[in-house]
Amino acid sequence: MDNISFSYDKISGDDKSLSLLQESNLINEGKWICAESYEEILALIQNYETETVSKFSCYSADKNFGNIEASVKHHKIRWEDDSVPFNGVPFVIVGSKVFDCMHGRDRKVSFKEEYKMRCNDRKVSDHSYFKSYEMIQDAKKFNCSSQIKIKEVLKFPDFKIIEDSKWKRVTSSKKIQEAISKNEAVGQKIFLIFLPSMSSHTGHFTGNAAGISQPIDARLKEEIFTSSEFITSVDEMRRRLEIIVTREIFKNSICPSKSNKRFFPSKKTIRSYTLEAIRKKRYSNIDQECLIKKVEQWKVENPHRRFYLRPKGISEN
Ligand SMILES: [Zn+2]
Repeated sequence: MDNISFSYDKISGDDKSLSLLQESNLINEGKWICAESYEEILALIQNYETETVSKFSCYSADKNFGNIEASVKHHKIRWEDDSVPFNGVPFVIVGSKVFDCMHGRDRKVSFKEEYKMRCNDRKVSDHSYFKSYEMIQDAKKFNCSSQIKIKEVLKFPDFKIIEDSKWKRVTSSKKIQEAISKNEAVGQKIFLIFLPSMSSHTGHFTGNAAGISQPIDARLKEEIFTSSEFITSVDEMRRRLEIIVTREIFKNSICPSKSNKRFFPSKKTIRSYTLEAIRKKRYSNIDQECLIKKVEQWKVENPHRRFYLRPKGISEN
């Protein structure tokens, strides 16, 4: 595995022309990449998924990952690990997050079994009107072991050592700990991300053939949600999404084929997300009406108190 140091191999998420696969030789080998912000990490994942026609979902994450305000006092000072070779700069890992390939292990298997047992229990009891839904075997899970790993790191370049020796590591670590206890060393936040190789995927199709099983892109889901207010026709929504994909998302790069369901979702998918958006908005309007009534009631109950509510869609002027 090609390891990285803190000082080079930084890939900017803003560079839209960058091909991760070509630049980083990710076809055959996984790679650790360094980024300065969590936004850059998210952009890297989006680019990586698009280029490799893959989709990853969060398996585990430390609390507030991406914005951890950790007290470094309790973390081990490191000089190297599986993501970074020794380069003289000490660091601490404050958090980590792991994503599974969407065709990875079925993490909800015990929940699904429990659900099945509950259904069976209800079926055998008399006079049960409980409607059971047959749970078919999950067609997405193929035990693929491909994972994206991210580490949130604080590095201390001011305490860099030029020559590596046990004694130098120990003395420099002590200096950092002293500085930390006096609040004199805060560290510089960076993120390290491991992008797996294409060959790490097992048990399922990869490349263009995988496009058919891709879930809808988050940006398109968002677009359906906002446009559902004025577009209700599925055909029209599909045309709008196609325009966004071809003219905005892939304005400066090669657009995936129409068989890629992430960017060209089926009518069925568009319809179900449109209905969900309408339903969500209706509920939020009902909530608002309830709140307006509640405020009226509070005004009557507490005449000496002042209440001010500005309902959604009504400007202050
Ligand atoms: Zn996979």
